[in-house]
Amino acid sequence: MITMLKRPFPGGIHPDGHKDLTAHNKIRKDIKPKRLFLSLQQRNGTILRPLVGVGESVGKGQLLAKGISDMCVPLHSPVNGIVEDIKQHVTAHPSGLKCKTLVIKSNDNPLWAVAYPPCNVTKLSPQEMLQRVLDAGIVGLGGAGFPSGIKLRLARQKKIHTLLINGGECEPYITCDDRLMQESAADIVAGVDIMLTITGAKQAIIAIEDNKPSSIEVIKTACDHLDTISVQAVPSLYPMGSERHLVKAVTGRLIPPGQLSVALGILVHNVATAKSVYHAVSYRRPLIDRVITISGGGIEQPGNFVVPIGTPIADLLGAAGGLKVNAERLIAGGPMMGQIIRSTFAPVDKSIGAVLALSDTEVKPQQSHECVRCGRCVTACPMGLMPFQMASHTRISDFEGAQDYGIDHCLLCGACAYVCPSRIPLTQYFHHAKGAINAIRQMANKSTVTRKLAVARSDRLEKEAEAKKAAKAAKTAKRRRPARRAKEKEV
Ligand code: SF4
Ligand code: SF4
Repeated sequence: MITMLKRPFPGGIHPDGHKDLTAHNKIRKDIKPKRLFLSLQQRNGTILRPLVGVGESVGKGQLLAKGISDMCVPLHSPVNGIVEDIKQHVTAHPSGLKCKTLVIKSNDNPLWAVAYPPCNVTKLSPQEMLQRVLDAGIVGLGGAGFPSGIKLRLARQKKIHTLLINGGECEPYITCDDRLMQESAADIVAGVDIMLTITGAKQAIIAIEDNKPSSIEVIKTACDHLDTISVQAVPSLYPMGSERHLVKAVTGRLIPPGQLSVALGILVHNVATAKSVYHAVSYRRPLIDRVITISGGGIEQPGNFVVPIGTPIADLLGAAGGLKVNAERLIAGGPMMGQIIRSTFAPVDKSIGAVLALSDTEVKPQQSHECVRCGRCVTACPMGLMPFQMASHTRISDFEGAQDYGIDHCLLCGACAYVCPSRIPLTQYFHHAKGAINAIRQMANKSTVTRKLAVARSDRLEKEAEAKKAAKAAKTAKRRRPARRAKEKEV
């Protein structure tokens, strides 16, 4: 049964929205970068093999690189142009990681290299539709970046009953999904309908925060003719965009700890992903661009833009009028969960939904004080954790203690740090602790593997020694036998 509760989950906060900066302007389509930088290493670490060489001409939509595993989504050219170089270049990864990158020089021709006429999707089988999604290189555009085709295939295997389409967009400043819903409602609904066919789910619910009344209205109108798709308003409460909290808000059900929503027969996808699915299945268009919010008090002309994948962040800032003199911090993503941008040469990848330039007044003072045990972080935590306890264990590198307090379940949502009156950088502590715990786990795995390899080696050496001994004994016995036979003859 679908329920709508006033406060649908414990914890959560109402951060200042700042959405007015961009919510009322149409999505701009005038970003035309001269050079695109397409990383051959994906966010999940998988590596792509280039299919083109330096000097080769490429067409808009052409397959440029692919990987060997299912977890690598193929990469397509966002423009017509030429491969100018293949070299190490900085990525949008928060560590400032460099990796092998295709540099494409655009020739400004906006036409697709291959024009596929729209097909009658009702004639396609679910498997054919799924293949088109896989071929299009679509990943979840809500930020997680997981390959969408793999998610849809898994959902079909697990026989999910409900598709939950995430139009929550709870992070402050970000309005790209809100604008997309208002400007491409029909495409989104068509994509959701296709996803219903692929997964075999019986119904889809498009969940939208109640601070987006225009989106709720247009999406409702767009799916009016379909019994299987409905719209549900959810309260604007951060972090409503988290899969776990959206499922709880819409269905009243809790995803068991450590599991995904498919465990409840529910698959969650983002609204922008639904639009990409529609384009992939109906027009065979690969994912080559996405809508990104560029906002914050430190940018001259905040707005939402269609951005070709691989566009350098510097070009984005330029298209939005450039930085103001009081710009203090650049962030990829929202202010709650986003990561500081280390280089404006880094290109946009498929999982970046926003670039924020925060002014000095928007960046909170960093001076932190001792914990006053006020408990506000505990009240704000949507996962029911005790952030101040986890932080105090992390501070003395007692990661086991932090794990006892449930750090493994921390979403790094930043709600606790937002409300902390002592300005303790709680989320930074948890990022650090999670990194350290991961490293310890990897080391433990490595030493287990090393131990296994050592045991296997000594077993092998022992067996080889025994085999050698047996061979030697057999050889000696063979040599003795003629002598014994001669002796026997003498007798
Ligand atoms: S960052 Fe972690 S501890 Fe803090 S509120 Fe979010 S889930 Fe809770
Ligand atoms: S909100 Fe800050 S000061 Fe209050 S208990 Fe939590 S960590 Fe301590």
